[in-house]
Amino acid sequence: MPTPGGPPAEKVILEALRTVHEPDLRRDIVSLKFVKAVEVRGPAVRIRITLPYPTLSLKDQLRQECAAKVRTLPGVDAVEVEVSTDISSRPGPAGEMVPEVRNIVAIASGKGGVGKSTTSANLALALSSMGARVGLLDADVYGPSIPGMLGVTERPEVNPGGRLPPIGKHGISVMSMGLLASRETPVIWRGPMATKLIQQFLGAVEWGALDYLLLDLPPGTGDVQLTITQSVPLAGAVIVSTPQDVALHIAMKGLKMFQDVHVPIVGIVENMSTFVCPHCGERSDIFRHGGARKICGERGIPFLGEIPIDGAIVQAGDEGLPTVLRNADGPAATAYREVARRLVAEIGLANLLGSETTRRPQKVGAAKSGVHLDLKWDDGHRSRIGYRRLRLECPCAACIDEWTREPRLDPKSVPELVHPIEVSSVGRYALAFKWSDGHSSGIYTFQRLRDLCECIECGGTEAIEPEEEPGPPPRAAGGTFEV
Ligand code: ADP
Repeated sequence: MPTPGGPPAEKVILEALRTVHEPDLRRDIVSLKFVKAVEVRGPAVRIRITLPYPTLSLKDQLRQECAAKVRTLPGVDAVEVEVSTDISSRPGPAGEMVPEVRNIVAIASGKGGVGKSTTSANLALALSSMGARVGLLDADVYGPSIPGMLGVTERPEVNPGGRLPPIGKHGISVMSMGLLASRETPVIWRGPMATKLIQQFLGAVEWGALDYLLLDLPPGTGDVQLTITQSVPLAGAVIVSTPQDVALHIAMKGLKMFQDVHVPIVGIVENMSTFVCPHCGERSDIFRHGGARKICGERGIPFLGEIPIDGAIVQAGDEGLPTVLRNADGPAATAYREVARRLVAEIGLANLLGSETTRRPQKVGAAKSGVHLDLKWDDGHRSRIGYRRLRLECPCAACIDEWTREPRLDPKSVPELVHPIEVSSVGRYALAFKWSDGHSSGIYTFQRLRDLCECIECGGTEAIEPEEEPGPPPRAAGGTFEV
């Protein structure tokens, strides 16, 4: 509480700042660790905020909102809010091959022709326009289309150090297999050959310091894609899909591939979503739109946005000047910039959650009781959490209000014997459960699971036998779920 008549305590200011939310992540800026310092000098307050990703408008928005919130506190006369950017890196050791790249992001699709390369090129340019240092690697060995889309014709030259500097174009660094092969000899590398080449290629390019390196993966979810995703330390993966059910179904395979290797899913982009008639402006859904958003909502995956079907995208791609540059004020460019904005915010969040996670569960399964989940952690600790309590603690937007943090889930609606029927890992920092009551959108961070532990050591009442191991998860095939 503020001292009567005097300036407010730092704690009070932080409480006020907790009501300021990041609009895309829908979390408050204190829990996101954006607030780095609060200084109170008499009636003057200075707040220092650092954003872990580039933005075009968020800085001003936060500056104004924070100042407005704090100025209303008793005892405050003047508020100064300083907002800076320091782009975060993927937590963990830097990749040997690309030590100066802060975030490598794979752009994937379940099948070809959904607009993955077009999306990669436009997103790279949108990120660059936000002030980030961006690289784009065309790893689509089967059909390298990035050079054409960006109008790159120069061939890369090996430098005296034996490395391959990328080509600078429109403010970003570009490299493609297509730049090495001549037009007459199309690149048709398959399987292990392709994988080996890409690995060599990744190691040979001298990217220098970058904030984001986008990796335009070959379409599909086979061995080549899997090997590439494991060759470099990915900050996350973006899935591009068209709205059709079939395409989305295929995109889900991509999702599973990344989940299996613990790469955070940054989100899904729905491409060729709605058609906006260039003459009358009328919108029509050529391929039923909105499917990706729905799937994201059901599974707790961030939805990054929709790109309309737009003839200007094709024309721009064919002319070597992507639509983000060629028609910067058009609807497609605006849509790409929005996707880029959400993308960097989600990567920032994944980096934060990944760096907060000090302990990981190694085994997750059912306790003998039949109503508890057991976890075995990498530090040897064993946790037990009641299924119903875990279900009631679901952190998704349907169960808890995103702004006020008030519960929205009516406990009476949750069956007494609710239990998980599927457990999957989300990136390097969380687990997701599919519940017997049909709910599946909650993502539980490792830290949250540890906090929910009901064992005696953690202040609960559950006694776990020293040699007791988690049993197979209920109804899930294949025994104990290994993280
Ligand atoms: P992929 O990389 O998934 O194989 P491409 O990015 O090469 O797909 O795109 C395939 C074709 O679709 C290209 O001709 C491209 O210009 C076009 N395209 C991509 N996105 C859109 C869109 N939103 N509207 C209209 N055409 C698009």
